[in-house]
Amino acid sequence: MDFAEMSSKFQEEFGKAADRKYFAPGRINIIGEHIDYNGGLVFPSPITLGTYALVGKREDKLVRAYSINFEEIGIIEFSLDNLEYNKEHNWVNYLKGVAKALIEEDYALQHGFDIVVYGNIPNGSGLSSSASLEMLSVTIFKDLFELPITPVEAALLGKKVENQYIGVNSGIMDQFAIALGKKDHVILLDCNTLEYSYHPLQLEKHSIVIMNTNKRRELADSKYNERRSECESALEKLQTVCTANNLCEITLEELEANKELLTEVEYRRVHHVITENARVKQATTALAEGDLVQLGQLLNGSHTSLCKDYEVTGIELDTLAEAAWQAEGVLGARMTGAGFGGCGIALVENESVDNFIEQVGKKYKEVIGYEASFFVANIGDGPIRVD
Ligand code: ADP
Ligand code: MG
Repeated sequence: MDFAEMSSKFQEEFGKAADRKYFAPGRINIIGEHIDYNGGLVFPSPITLGTYALVGKREDKLVRAYSINFEEIGIIEFSLDNLEYNKEHNWVNYLKGVAKALIEEDYALQHGFDIVVYGNIPNGSGLSSSASLEMLSVTIFKDLFELPITPVEAALLGKKVENQYIGVNSGIMDQFAIALGKKDHVILLDCNTLEYSYHPLQLEKHSIVIMNTNKRRELADSKYNERRSECESALEKLQTVCTANNLCEITLEELEANKELLTEVEYRRVHHVITENARVKQATTALAEGDLVQLGQLLNGSHTSLCKDYEVTGIELDTLAEAAWQAEGVLGARMTGAGFGGCGIALVENESVDNFIEQVGKKYKEVIGYEASFFVANIGDGPIRVD
């Protein structure tokens, strides 16, 4: 699917040509998992997979929306004067939620438009197709009505839509990584203060391979909420003896000294949070020094911690990571995203990539019974109007 094919779809559905084209990326998180909601550091990058849109202005206040990924749903129509959540509007609620949030910020959305969307990010696989769609939507409104929205405001607005309109209890990382994305750079983001910095990632002799378990993420939402409440409960207990606003402000020494306050499970959850936050800092240094071997080791350490301490991996992600660790030319591998299915990433020498995909794919099929899929990720730019 490319813009030319999308243009014919637009013509077919709406009987006219589109005027504008947009793109917003998905994202991977290189390292720093399950610590965004614990006040920690994350290290994500936008990728060149993402969501595309063609838009044609309308004179009235109607929006007519069609996604090539959800053909069975057909065109959904809504008015910019009625933006209540409607379950039957399915994916279009993301677009409506963004419009509603903009109006709540006192931005004027003077007229509607027709829109065709297509994305090449697998949905629900931890590469954040939802944040991609939200940031795409913000970009469209911003461009159509010349709204003075900064990328940070766009990210916060997307998070509000995800949390309050869609009802998903997620952190700021995904929208931030996308809205502030910069080609060939990783963003170091402090989720507590929203301070951030860019770190060049030029791999040259290596590639980042995304490995998709193709597992449905049934458990993900309930387990995600369970981890959040385990962390909240551990923090409350530790706050009786430590001065900390979040778990990332607690040191390993403090954790060890006050172990008896926590259940065994809470202890392991906090152990992951503290060590993962330290690994993000070490990864930043490793990248600055061009030490990819060290970066790879940190990815492995992250996966092991997410498996043993935080228990969010599961057999599918563990099988991918372990097969990756055994393959030739691999510097490191780990799960990325919330876990319980979704995707992993591996840092692989360019000349070993084909072999890697074959070997890891074969092992996965043997153990799990169905295929994994693989993509080589390039670190792309944030959301843009293409023309
Ligand atoms: P993730 O963000 O991990 O990919 P989510 O369940 O949060 O998974 O978001 C997936 C949802 O986002 C889809 O079910 C759909 O509603 C919406 N979405 C994502 N990409 C598209 C697209 N190309 N077209 C229409 N809706 C999309
Ligand atoms: Mg999502």
